[in-house]
Amino acid sequence: MYPIQIGDKTFELYLEKEMISKRTRLLGIQLNVDYEGRCPILIGVLNGSFLFMAGLVKEMDIACEVSFIRLSSYEGTERSDSVKKVLGLQENLKDRDVILVEDIVDTGATLRYILKEVYRQEPASVAVCSLLLKPDSLTEEISEIKYVGFEIANDFVVGHGLDYNGLGRNLNSIYVLTS
Ligand code: 5GP
Repeated sequence: MYPIQIGDKTFELYLEKEMISKRTRLLGIQLNVDYEGRCPILIGVLNGSFLFMAGLVKEMDIACEVSFIRLSSYEGTERSDSVKKVLGLQENLKDRDVILVEDIVDTGATLRYILKEVYRQEPASVAVCSLLLKPDSLTEEISEIKYVGFEIANDFVVGHGLDYNGLGRNLNSIYVLTS
């Protein structure tokens, strides 16, 4: 497999776009079944979730709403210490069925912070749907993580919404850092 260059780093193919779209389709179908008649609100965490969210909702045919929030916790390939503020969270989540849509859950710190903010509004239920999960990196179990596309090793990946210093989000497949 040919390596690709993104900025100053080299990456190689990790998850092919066909695998990602098949898995996304299955998750969408599962959400159709699990949320039938409930009109959930899907809340994507920007920027990374935009492609996964688009793929997911295109597979859903139940009534649902789509919204996005934004924050960031990474610079380059290193984890920064603090999670920043949640921006754009709607104020009307009371009694709603919320599905948080993430590109990746690494340590889980970002997600725990977002969950705390969401629970303040007393939603009826909260579930997390993440394209990727790094189980070895997760510092404590998060019971809300009910839908996962792929469990991956503790490596740095880009593509399908995920970036390296702002680059690579547009790639359909997912690539892993080699050097
Ligand atoms: P956590 O708070 O779970 O440690 O980190 C979550 C955030 O870190 C993700 O939303 C993502 O922005 C970033 N992140 C974690 N692992 C990776 C990775 O392998 N690649 C990229 N591009 N971002 C990552």
